[in-house]
Amino acid sequence: MIRVTVWNEFRHERIDPKVANIYPDGIHGAIAQYLRGLPEIEVRTATLDEPEHGLRDDVLNNTDVLIWWGHMAHREVSDEIVEKVHRRIVLDGMGLIVLHSGHFSKIFKLLMGTTCNLKWREAGEKERIWVINPGHPIAEGLGEYFELEHTEMYGEPFDIPQPDELVFVSWFKGGEVFRSGCCFIRGRGRVFYFRPGHETLPIYHDSNVLKVIGNAVRWAAPSKGPKPTFGNVRPLENL
Ligand code: ZN
Repeated sequence: MIRVTVWNEFRHERIDPKVANIYPDGIHGAIAQYLRGLPEIEVRTATLDEPEHGLRDDVLNNTDVLIWWGHMAHREVSDEIVEKVHRRIVLDGMGLIVLHSGHFSKIFKLLMGTTCNLKWREAGEKERIWVINPGHPIAEGLGEYFELEHTEMYGEPFDIPQPDELVFVSWFKGGEVFRSGCCFIRGRGRVFYFRPGHETLPIYHDSNVLKVIGNAVRWAAPSKGPKPTFGNVRPLENL
């Protein structure tokens, strides 16, 4: 089983009726509901306003892949929890999937080491998401491209380090392009940034978007390689 925790700051859904109408169980609820229908995936959710943001040690230590959605409250995420999440990724190999406006989350910026800034526009325009790495496991089951009729635009340059693998590039009706599916290896951990989202649009009900998130969970799950030891060691042979 792959143990997934879907984390959401869960603020918009509680204060904006328009958002609550699209995501009555929260964005985390919509994503969790889809993942629960997949074989060999076990899902729990966690939100910002729970104690320790729902990411107690026992939760993190029993999470193989963490999915992260945040937008308006990145600054309220405690540095201590971010450090713990970072260690769990880099040292233990927990996977991380960062969605949409999570590009400005503390954990993503820490892992990238850049501003993670980008262009944006809220005009509800069409997005065409091209699969540019068709053999990649995150693209499994998709066509050459898929479309979202109404999206928020994110445009290049996206201030991130060169991704280790690039799976999707988006085209927007307004003319911009964007690296929408970026894979990074950080220590033992795999990190996937996936652009589509936005709280006032039903993006996380779209079947292609959900399929990508499910594929990304399987890709980001930790491998069962040896646990490294560091520091002063005895020789293996007689010296
Ligand atoms: Zn947005």
